[in-house]
Amino acid sequence: MDSIGLLKLKILSRGISDGGTGLLERLHLVQNPAAIARTGNNGLFISLEPMGGGKPSPLNVAMSYNNDFAKSSPYILSEEGGKFFLLDTTSGIKYTVNIPTETPQWLLTPVGDSIAGNYVAFEGGSTVIADITPGCIYINKGEGCKFCGIGALDKSQMLGYAGKLKASLEIAAQAAGVDIFVLTGGNTYTRDRGAYQYVQFVEAIKKHNKRASVSLEISPPEPSIVREVFEKLKAAGVEAITMNLEFYSDKTRAEIMPRKGSFPREDYYHAGQVGIEIFGKNKITSGLIVGVEPLEDTKRAIDELASRGILPEPYPFKPNAGSQMRDWPTIDPSITHEATLYAAEAQKKHGIDPRQAGGCIACAACGVSQELYTQVCKLR
Ligand code: SF4
Repeated sequence: MDSIGLLKLKILSRGISDGGTGLLERLHLVQNPAAIARTGNNGLFISLEPMGGGKPSPLNVAMSYNNDFAKSSPYILSEEGGKFFLLDTTSGIKYTVNIPTETPQWLLTPVGDSIAGNYVAFEGGSTVIADITPGCIYINKGEGCKFCGIGALDKSQMLGYAGKLKASLEIAAQAAGVDIFVLTGGNTYTRDRGAYQYVQFVEAIKKHNKRASVSLEISPPEPSIVREVFEKLKAAGVEAITMNLEFYSDKTRAEIMPRKGSFPREDYYHAGQVGIEIFGKNKITSGLIVGVEPLEDTKRAIDELASRGILPEPYPFKPNAGSQMRDWPTIDPSITHEATLYAAEAQKKHGIDPRQAGGCIACAACGVSQELYTQVCKLR
């Protein structure tokens, strides 16, 4: 039987299918009642019952009903007698899974002419993910990242968007058991590269939930203002920052991320180090997409980040619906497994710990950093 880390990576890489029963769409609508197609990482949140007892393991499955690659997944979800099962058709093993079947009432709370669920995605009973703008301006300008399925900035939706998002976040912040907030999107052509826009949303959450862990996924602000930007975000209540380098080689970065790849790698390193001074150890993370560039390049990125105290987080490339790379093949999960093990070794060597991280690594739904770090520590 696969280790939990490898099984999770296989499911993340290939998605899951319901064999055409419509079960996935029905369940996804429970967790995301507004049925908005957000980024490729927004999928159905399930937890896997371990075979030998113990704590259920969170698994996030790739955009269950609008990613074509998942339709041919070897992992088939079914419902029998009110229980859910995931059949691994490659091994014949059938796992019991837990999936929420009731929509949290707060997601249905009216906000303007819509509902709170229109502006936030809710995952796993505790994590709220929100795009602070409806789409990305870089895509409007023909400079979007080719792997990204978020779509162009919809200017017709911009009017009143920030107010409705703030209202939705305030509702979420008051809901029982909702304590993790991940905010993303909002790129700009200004020197802060969009970071200042987050302050109002963080303050809206913190007004109602002082204990909430709020993390941002942003591009690194220009070096000349990064300290001032981060101090303002920290004062607003931000706990952790993710700045996704995504790829190491400048050639790949320029080809796949025409705008984001034009920010020098050094900006990520510099912002990461300033961020550690301001937000603390283990609070700065950087995502790396595995499987597009050679693994050796991914490992170089891991070394560069970890040696500066920035937590690298490898996650598998997915051919997201709506992205320019939607027809690319899925990648072999063992490559992401090797990259994540390498990251775990580097984290151990440099004294940083993904189990203490905020943001995307803390949510643990899109990668296996925590699982493999724990494995590496036990081996030592
Ligand atoms: S910067 Fe790239 S990854 Fe981020 S939202 Fe824009 S297109 Fe998507």
